[in-house]
Amino acid sequence: MRLMNNIYTLTDAVILTMDDNQPLINTGRIVIENDCIKKIGQSSEIDAEGKIYSLKDKLLMPGLINTHSHSVSPLFRGMADDLKLMDWLNNVIWPAEKHLSPEAAYWGAAMCALEYIENGITTFVDQYYFAEDIARAVVDTGIRAVLAPSVFSGKTAETKNTFHAARNFIKKYQLRSGETNIYPAIGPHAPYSCEQNLLEEVGEFAKEKDVLVHIHISETVDENREIQEKYGVTPTQFLKQTGILDNKVIAAHCIHLNEQDLQTFKHKEIAVSYNPISNLKLVSGIMPMKAMVEKGLLITVGTDGAQSNNSLDLLRDLKTGVLLQKQFNEDATFIKAKEAVEFVTKNGAKAIGLEDQLGSLEIGKKADLISIDLNSVNLNPVHYNYLDNIYSAIAYSASGKEVLDVIINGEFIMQDGNFLKLSKKTILNNSKKQAEILMKKAGLL
Ligand SMILES: [Zn+2]
Repeated sequence: MRLMNNIYTLTDAVILTMDDNQPLINTGRIVIENDCIKKIGQSSEIDAEGKIYSLKDKLLMPGLINTHSHSVSPLFRGMADDLKLMDWLNNVIWPAEKHLSPEAAYWGAAMCALEYIENGITTFVDQYYFAEDIARAVVDTGIRAVLAPSVFSGKTAETKNTFHAARNFIKKYQLRSGETNIYPAIGPHAPYSCEQNLLEEVGEFAKEKDVLVHIHISETVDENREIQEKYGVTPTQFLKQTGILDNKVIAAHCIHLNEQDLQTFKHKEIAVSYNPISNLKLVSGIMPMKAMVEKGLLITVGTDGAQSNNSLDLLRDLKTGVLLQKQFNEDATFIKAKEAVEFVTKNGAKAIGLEDQLGSLEIGKKADLISIDLNSVNLNPVHYNYLDNIYSAIAYSASGKEVLDVIINGEFIMQDGNFLKLSKKTILNNSKKQAEILMKKAGLL
């Protein structure tokens, strides 16, 4: 347990605040008291308090926010590649998932959290089963998470129970975010995997409990066709009819949207999670970002799961995704480096409703921050006084490999590349063991 009134100072860092009032501090200092930022400014102007850590030649910035993931997914990494989405889901992933145990879920989520932290992700939005076991891994690894237990329609006991399990999880964790760093949400899987009455019930429940809805929308052409045949409308219009979009929503993928759907996204203020690498790997399509930006939609980025990514390095997704949009729109000026960095910081915070606490480094906000090694060859030269050069370094040159320090809720979770919570070796050994059990049960080993 953390001692009360823990206070320390990070000094001599280049600070990219993502706060437009003072975006760049070239020799900066941050004083952290307990879980919050107490002071921030030039090292010469701020008195240090408590223990002092020198971060010379490191860039401090807000922790990255990953808005779409399935955190047990590293167990399935490399299990099946080079397949189409429905083939991959129906014939490999879903049959293998049936063999998951709570212990496997815990170690999968712990490995996922470790990978996130090593890549500078301090908050993730998750949709999966086994929320209780994922929650334990979140607490043990020190990461911050919005956990949306998956809800499915179906005839089996497993799928029938998903809504019940989600409700119980939300009731249990809703009042405990402060002590756990867990924000419960609800995750109706997709329009094609949830029946209309279930979506209506989930929508009502989310409204009653005031929790975020995290859902996949229009990931593939096949999904759109299926929903069109069944309900005579697009997935977005079908969801609108169920009332579920009257909640705060983060929608993943959002690829095959027409003008009416985009209007609905605008009107309902749905936040978009762009998942470019997963979409490219499964050949799902390219998200219509230009039309979204023109409408002022809130764009964030998600890794999706390690089954379809396969790495969980959000900066890699960001670069790939932005370059893809430039090419797709035949416009090199589309999405500037600054906007790209906002996708994975400020916009992510806004999408989860925590913009007053996360997404930028400002006095009073949560101390969720990461440092990047400015001595890395692939970033150099970095000009510490030149703001656009710093945005460029993050959006186009950096990867998770340059992340050295990770502080979440004021606590050092990683220091100079060393993970300080659970033993890294224990996480890797246990998750490998659990992945092998799954592979054997699925007949792949
Ligand atoms: Zn997904």
